[in-house]
Amino acid sequence: MIRIRNLTKIYHSSSGNVKALENVNLNIEKGDIFGIIGLSGAGKSTLLRCINMLEKPTSGSIEIDGVEMTRLTPSELKEMRKKIGMIFQHFNLLSSRTVRGNVAFPLEIAGLDKRTIDKKVENLLELVGLSDKADNYPSQLSGGQKQRVGIARALANDPKVLLCDEPTSALDPETTLSILNLLKDINRELGITIVLITHEMNVIKQICNKVAVIEKSRVVEQGPLIEVFKKT
Ligand code: ADP
Ligand code: ADP
Repeated sequence: MIRIRNLTKIYHSSSGNVKALENVNLNIEKGDIFGIIGLSGAGKSTLLRCINMLEKPTSGSIEIDGVEMTRLTPSELKEMRKKIGMIFQHFNLLSSRTVRGNVAFPLEIAGLDKRTIDKKVENLLELVGLSDKADNYPSQLSGGQKQRVGIARALANDPKVLLCDEPTSALDPETTLSILNLLKDINRELGITIVLITHEMNVIKQICNKVAVIEKSRVVEQGPLIEVFKKT
């Protein structure tokens, strides 16, 4: 599903150059819940953001569903991004829009008609268990409920891949478990491939079938969860 070859990302800034990723190779297969774990500053966010080209790689290749991401025109990239949903540590919801309005947002951008959008939003809110909060604003929700809205929004365009940036780091342990179970259901029932970055081993152990360990901009281990952690 996702094939990354010799990916290198160097940030250029006034204080010098930072090599955030160095020769990263990853194979993520359809149906995987693929965890990427590492300390703060290891390069996890950069790697995740390169997958949907929010960051432009310095060199290397990223193939998603057979399409080379680094060579797309802006309009091709826009089409490809519909196949890639993303959720965030701090949810990134629009505070001026209701739950319904947040989930509808990507569908409005895609230009769907109102009836289709309403139906779709209703189904998505049911999927994440938030039908009764449709008219609430984000400020009226708990952290776990906000992340459920984030998940519903990320699924709006029927993506094949869901990228998760520290999805539970702002949540308490109980809420973390319920969000991870929701992600597991989405993977199993909708067949969506999940890529998740985290600094927490528990998160990896709860849901991932495969894991890559990233240290100082390099992937130092990757494979099935049991094999990678047999060695530690
Ligand atoms: P992680 O997600 O594992 O915490 P990041 O990918 O955020 O790691 O960061 C990797 C390295 O790249 C760090 O040294 C960080 O300071 C640096 N970095 C990240 N984003 C930028 C940026 N936009 N400009 C310059 N350096 C950056
Ligand atoms: P995260 O919790 O994802 O690791 P960070 O606080 O590392 O978040 O980064 C937040 C934002 O700041 C990101 O967009 C990242 O690219 C950017 N960033 C991180 N490190 C640097 C840096 N050294 N210089 C400039 N931008 C940075």
